[in-house]
Amino acid sequence: MAPMNRPLLNRRLAEFGTTIFAEMSALAARTGAINLGQGFPDTDGPEEIREAAVRALREGHGNQYPPGPGVPELREAVADHQLKRYGLAHDPDAEVLVTAGATEAIAAALLALVEPGDEVIALEPYYDSYAACIAMAGGTRVPVTLRPSEGRYVLDLDELRAAVTDRTRLILLNTPHNPTGTVLTRDELTAVAELATERDLLVVTDEVYEHLVFDDAEHIPIATLPGMRDRTVTIGSAGKTFSFTGWKVGWVTASPELTAAVRSAKQFLTYVASGPFQYAIAEALRLPDTYFEGLRADLRAKRDLLSDGLARAGFEVYRPAGTYFVTTDIRPLGESDGFAFCRGLPERAGVVAIPNAVFYDHRDAGAPFVRFAFCKRTDVLEEAVARLRTLAA
Ligand SMILES: *Cc1c(COP(=O)(O)O)cnc(C)c1O
Repeated sequence: MAPMNRPLLNRRLAEFGTTIFAEMSALAARTGAINLGQGFPDTDGPEEIREAAVRALREGHGNQYPPGPGVPELREAVADHQLKRYGLAHDPDAEVLVTAGATEAIAAALLALVEPGDEVIALEPYYDSYAACIAMAGGTRVPVTLRPSEGRYVLDLDELRAAVTDRTRLILLNTPHNPTGTVLTRDELTAVAELATERDLLVVTDEVYEHLVFDDAEHIPIATLPGMRDRTVTIGSAGKTFSFTGWKVGWVTASPELTAAVRSAKQFLTYVASGPFQYAIAEALRLPDTYFEGLRADLRAKRDLLSDGLARAGFEVYRPAGTYFVTTDIRPLGESDGFAFCRGLPERAGVVAIPNAVFYDHRDAGAPFVRFAFCKRTDVLEEAVARLRTLAA
């Protein structure tokens, strides 16, 4: 029997409990509600890429441990992608590392770069694994809150500057940003870059939604800004870009020194993962531009379908410039507690959403906001919108 004289879960992780997604997905299953909580597509990615994975399996590519840094085909495809899209040149051998999804890249970067006691600045509301990974690394998280202003969530540059102390080690960025759907502007990124250079900070940037930007929004990797290439760890993933979230293929691009540091932690996490899928994603990254344009157009239409429906149902809607998610304010519906609202929504309207407060340390700042995912089939979104109409009645 395990020793029971103290809590089994260690102090670093005790505060995290189980994720809200488990609770809300169970609620969806129990009530038959449409699940717009968790952000995964309900349609698989390109058939030719699925076939590429099957071919890799059959031909015996990647069925045994692939090389630690990732298969050369994928590392070259990632390097070519960064060069073609952003003009960022990376040596596929020394400056690209394949990971088990962006999730492992985030964990490995923080475990490698953060010393116990170091402070890590992260944009709040944040993706749920950030807080846990900072804690596992022994770091202290310092949230800087994104706040709505004129229809968009903005980064308060004074607040960011004030958050930096002598113990700050790195800034953890996420753009396009989950859950707010904001895409950081060149001005915002320039300010972050200037601060990082001035205070000699590292930047870890989660760019898994790099291809999911709408209208005239532009995704700008902070590594492209002056002075940033060699102090930035850029994280990408195939999950969202190619609608294969179960394959868990992610990557890091960074200077040789930073890549080596992240690899030091990564080798003792999964060591390697997703062998055959790595070959398939190497092909996916070379799909013609029409694929990426088609993906964007499809998601943009879905964003509009759900955003318009939510507005008609009475929500205040922050129409996102990127990602899978639309954040709403429930106060126009006479509500103020997103948790209570989301727990009641399946019974009231047959839809599941996520209270943004779970992504905040300052829970009050997030209380009235609720997130809906639109990476679902059009008929599913139409049905959700029809159901949500009952809220307006
Ligand atoms: C989905 C998501 C991830 C996880 O990516 P995987 O490649 O599936 O591990 C990381 N960051 C953000 C912001 C996400 O939304």
